[in-house]
Amino acid sequence: MDDCLFCRIVAGEIPATVVHESEQVLAFQDVNPQAPVHVLVIPKRHVGNIGELGAHPESAAYVLAGIRAVADELNLQSYRTVFNTGGDSGQTVFHVHAHVLSGRSFGWPPG
Ligand code: AMP
Ligand code: ZN
Repeated sequence: MDDCLFCRIVAGEIPATVVHESEQVLAFQDVNPQAPVHVLVIPKRHVGNIGELGAHPESAAYVLAGIRAVADELNLQSYRTVFNTGGDSGQTVFHVHAHVLSGRSFGWPPG
């Protein structure tokens, strides 16, 4: 996916501050953080959103393992995990990513 921003980060064509990396997953700092900790966890394989991730259960498992690794590495006791899906949800990059947010309180319901 030549025109996908996050595939270009995986390819090393666009710089990112990497928090965690495995063969299958990359986690990096969000450029526009919404909390003191705001990390994006993506599969290296291009998958568009969490719905499509259901067709790739191995990638889904890798993303969950990546979230766990980020929480361990940053010693997060409490964090909010968000997957936006589709334009109305706020999705702007169509390569599936988990937002891992921490370091402040988050309301529930999210509003
Ligand atoms: P979403 O709106 O759920 O699709 O989330 C996309 C996220 O990607 C936003 O929080 C952006 O701040 C973030 N973002 C956009 N470009 C970059 C980039 N080059 N490096 C890191 N994060 C980015
Ligand atoms: Zn992509």
